[in-house]
Amino acid sequence: MKIQNVVVGAGFAGACIARRIAEEKNESVLVIDKKMHIAGHAYDEYNEHGVLIHKYGPHIFHTNNKLVWNWLSRFTEWNNYQHRVLSYVDGFYVPMPISIETINSLYNLNLSTFELESWLDERRLKDLLIKNSEDVVLSKLGRDLFEKFFKNYTFKQWNLDANQLDASVISRIPVRHNRDTRYFSDRYQGLPTLGYTKLLSKILEHKNIHLLLNTEWSNIKPDLSYGKLFYTGSIDEYFDYSLGNLGYRSVKFEYETFFDREYFQKVGTVNYPNDYDFTRITEYKWLTGQKILQTTIAREFSSSEGEPFYTVPNASNQILYKEYTKMIPNNVFFIGRLAEYKYYNMDQIVERVLFLDI
Ligand SMILES: Cc1cc2nc3c(=O)[nH]c(=O)nc-3n(C[C@H](O)[C@H](O)[C@H](O)COP(=O)(O)OP(=O)(O)OC[C@H]3O[C@@H](n4cnc5c(N)ncnc54)[C@H](O)[C@@H]3O)c2cc1C
Repeated sequence: MKIQNVVVGAGFAGACIARRIAEEKNESVLVIDKKMHIAGHAYDEYNEHGVLIHKYGPHIFHTNNKLVWNWLSRFTEWNNYQHRVLSYVDGFYVPMPISIETINSLYNLNLSTFELESWLDERRLKDLLIKNSEDVVLSKLGRDLFEKFFKNYTFKQWNLDANQLDASVISRIPVRHNRDTRYFSDRYQGLPTLGYTKLLSKILEHKNIHLLLNTEWSNIKPDLSYGKLFYTGSIDEYFDYSLGNLGYRSVKFEYETFFDREYFQKVGTVNYPNDYDFTRITEYKWLTGQKILQTTIAREFSSSEGEPFYTVPNASNQILYKEYTKMIPNNVFFIGRLAEYKYYNMDQIVERVLFLDI
């Protein structure tokens, strides 16, 4: 069968690409996904207790890009949720990212914005050549804060020490020199009011888009010929791991629902860098704003086994990824988190797709 455009993956990348082709080129697009549902890692669903949860971990939309926000706003309204995170350190729940409030509560100080600058300046390691994630934190915050917040958390999450991880991994974590205790400071923030799955189903709702779920690319490929292929799955899997396996981290979730209280914790997410085996606990009601008496939390355990969630950006993986890209045929486009072997937030994926030459 000959098809003009095939998109593998019905996550953010695949859905947005399909919509652009269908709308702007008025061409037909076949979207396939091996999962039984659309929305990829942003998938949300109501659990058996009626609580809206994010099956693959908490997703908070945030962007400074007005174009991205406006494009998505054609398909959804937003709940304007502003994410807040606490970190449990030395027996205290303190705000993340590290801000004046964090330092003042943890060290029992009363620093002003101006004083924080010099307090950090006395502690940060100056003239450090930044080679890895540990260097990033030491040069921004110094050793004590690195050990309290980052050292063990990084190991729990990646099973690697921070000095074995590319500098880009931790440089995403902002440090606040003010009293803003929100986790993100982007201009536009929120969750789709009806959820991500509804948002992506609206994006995919077009007469030129044909969706096939529960369909693995390698099974359908022999029966298809296509003009263009947009592939949003793992690049090493696409090439049948012929050059070797790229590294990934997975996450396992342990859910618990409470019927005796409306809320379990004070904010959406609490990080546990040094205590317990899980990395963090998210309570979904904070994010979704759902009004319901019971509440569900998810404890996250990082794992080397299972479906790929995070790429592991270190030198050897980057080299291997580059080798795979040399094998990409002209009519195949690798777009997205796993396809480009790069951590992308949802807004970055949408931006990438909006500027893509389709
Ligand atoms: C735990 C976690 C938390 C996150 N939190 C946030 C957040 O708060 N804010 C934010 O902006 N971003 C967040 N992200 C990032 C966000 O998930 C990604 O930006 C987004 O999901 C990427 O979309 P994608 O389409 O590239 O990939 P995916 O969502 O992974 O979609 C790829 C799709 O392709 C399908 N597929 C793959 N291979 C095949 C194949 N061979 N055959 C058929 N189908 C295939 C998969 O089933 C999947 O549905 C988070 C990510 C994780 C892992």
